Amino acid sequence: MRPALRRLFLLAIESDALAERTAQGWVTRCLHCRTRLHVASDGTPGGSASLEHVVPRAWFGKRAAEALAARVGGDADDARNLGVACARCNQDKGKGPDARGPADARALEVVSTLVDRRLQRWRPPLA
Ligand SMILES: [Zn+2]
Repeated sequence: MRPALRRLFLLAIESDALAERTAQGWVTRCLHCRTRLHVASDGTPGGSASLEHVVPRAWFGKRAAEALAARVGGDADDARNLGVACARCNQDKGKGPDARGPADARALEVVSTLVDRRLQRWRPPLA
């Protein structure tokens, strides 16, 4: 796995209030379904853990998503926009709301609710 991607996993987990350190690295809960997920100390995801961009990368720069993008710092790779999710939940979101786009009211609502959830789980990244 690319070091840049491992860095994003670490950014997501170090700023996740539910994430706890273990002897092997980290354990947290899927942002969607709360399944237990593991990430190694170097940022390598375990099992079905995947990196979730809460506001989809493709939505940045689109007028309909402007307010949402601003809530996560205006940058797709900002820690506030990153979460750990199980692969199945991540794929379902990608094929559903992410693909429908921010002009779709229901898609906008789903992503907005997920931004709320991510910000509720926010903590300043641990050193
Ligand atoms: Zn899940």
